[in-house]
Amino acid sequence: MLLLRPSTCFLLPLWLTLVLVSCGERRVNYDSTSYAPPSNLHMDSELQGYFDSYVSDAAAAGVGIPDETLQEFKGLMWTDHIDIKNSPDATILCHCQRRHGLRFVELLKPNAEGKVGTTLVDDVTLKVMVYHELGHCLHDFSGHTSGKSAAVMNSYLQPARYFDLDGLLRDHFQMLKKVQDNPSFRP
Ligand SMILES: [Zn+2]
Repeated sequence: MLLLRPSTCFLLPLWLTLVLVSCGERRVNYDSTSYAPPSNLHMDSELQGYFDSYVSDAAAAGVGIPDETLQEFKGLMWTDHIDIKNSPDATILCHCQRRHGLRFVELLKPNAEGKVGTTLVDDVTLKVMVYHELGHCLHDFSGHTSGKSAAVMNSYLQPARYFDLDGLLRDHFQMLKKVQDNPSFRP
């Protein structure tokens, strides 16, 4: 899941937030059966392109998605509410749920101004959000990173997405490749 920046971080000056790569790393249980899957699981047409590019980028980077995993992935969709009780200090922006035979991603629907909270969900942000959740849902990456590298899998959206998106995505798949080659590797 990705979290909206908590107020204590949000209030910090921009120059400081640029070097704050994590305001609160946390581990999350993605495999809970307590979260009821939405009844209208589907691939949203607006989000399908991000999904397709993730799958092709992963294959190009040498970390293609197994067919079985792709078949289990049943939904990438907007939602009005994400109700997960493990984040009292921040709002969840999006999340992946995995369980036996089923994987899906939900993203909070932006308001009329295109924002969720104070976060503007523009094309770049949306791509990072989807790539983050598919890192969990298609590559089985659990937990979050806290360093500058592999920042797509940080708990919080990184300002670097506006400066070096290609580099972030390259680092993302290189990190996943390292994990695939050596499951004990942690970025
Ligand atoms: Zn996450």
